[in-house]
Amino acid sequence: MKMIQDFDFKGVKAIVRVDFNVPLDKKTLVVTDDTRIRGAIPTLRKIIGDGGSVILMSHLGRPEGRMEKYSLKPVLPVLEKHLGQSVKFADDCLGESAVSMSAALKPGEVLLLENVRFYPEEEGKPVLPETATDEEKKAAKAELKLKQKEMARKLAGYADVYVNDAFGTAHRAHGSTAVIADFFPKDKIMFGFLINSELAAMDKVLNNAQRPFTAIMGGAKVSDKILLIENLLNRVDNLIIGGGMTYTFVKAKGGKIGKSLCEEDKLDLALKIIEKAGEKNVNLYLPVDSVNGDKFDNEANIRVTAVDAVDDGWMGLDIGEKTIEEFSGVIGKSKTILWNGPMGVFEMEKFSKGTTAIAKAIASATSKGAFSLIGGGDSVAAINRNGLADKVSYVSTGGGAMLEYMEGKKLPGIVAIRGE
Ligand code: AMP
Repeated sequence: MKMIQDFDFKGVKAIVRVDFNVPLDKKTLVVTDDTRIRGAIPTLRKIIGDGGSVILMSHLGRPEGRMEKYSLKPVLPVLEKHLGQSVKFADDCLGESAVSMSAALKPGEVLLLENVRFYPEEEGKPVLPETATDEEKKAAKAELKLKQKEMARKLAGYADVYVNDAFGTAHRAHGSTAVIADFFPKDKIMFGFLINSELAAMDKVLNNAQRPFTAIMGGAKVSDKILLIENLLNRVDNLIIGGGMTYTFVKAKGGKIGKSLCEEDKLDLALKIIEKAGEKNVNLYLPVDSVNGDKFDNEANIRVTAVDAVDDGWMGLDIGEKTIEEFSGVIGKSKTILWNGPMGVFEMEKFSKGTTAIAKAIASATSKGAFSLIGGGDSVAAINRNGLADKVSYVSTGGGAMLEYMEGKKLPGIVAIRGE
């Protein structure tokens, strides 16, 4: 596999898939968080610095056909600022403008193509009426797959090499993230620096973790994280559970959870996880106390109880002080830490203490030499909100992609370049 750091881009045109799927202000369409744009800069600098030129492709949002509110135009000034040079823009990724502008691109120049998802073949998912029969669905899908190949072939035609640096969409088998790689020789496809660093961080945690290795799982539902939890049970020393999923475990063990979040159909699964942790000698930590509200609201009244004694009509919305102390103690002794999902409803100030405390405990363990990997939109937001992004080892840019990779799944965008 070609490595970007070893490749000389002098006189080479590179088509680079980036993840510029950034949040925009609904009214002004101004970029409100430029993390993903900044994430792509090292790869772009390398190509331009070598004397190559760059054609950028990305999606933004989930448009159905061409929709101006999903245009990549608002990205342009932010990209120009971080890159320190002007960037050209083609208002269609497949039209005449894209063809002629990429053909005319000179060494050192950068061209951004309009949203690849303005074409349904990018995703390969046909939009059909609900009344469509299975036959019709199958035929439409097959037809769109052919168009997807055609689209990928056209995009590939703009450039000499393909670089994938869009980690956030690596779990999608789309035209610009995976299929396009088939139209280049093997020595002309590679990952960018962002994907390389994401893979290195995840592989370190999955395959090369220094012990003790602690995983902290939070968020709303067990069902979303179950595959990751199962994979981690084979690898970690400590598994800490917090957030909404806590109460499914507590109820499964016979505790009283009031009207806390609970997945009734996952009670058996929770018991199986507890049993499997025992078999694998994994220390499973559940919260001991719970900060409860009488409604799902920042103005709720608060009552702290043991986690298995939540009063009727109340719901557990954060971990309590005793839990914070216990979890922080385990985190403080860890050498490898993986965190995915908040410990409570951290969007509400009243129920954000647990999540903030865990973020701080992870930063503190990192300062003592632990390797910490943070993934999932909410944990990343909690880290950023507390100004701790540079006090942890790695903050992943890809929520869903990271989850799937850590579950042990093969990501189409990764396989397309690295092979099986
Ligand atoms: P996820 O996307 O699965 O990581 O879940 C994140 C969401 O879980 C956040 O929006 C939190 O507000 C929510 N959450 C965390 N703890 C709780 C809780 N105890 N009850 C209800 N929701 C929670």
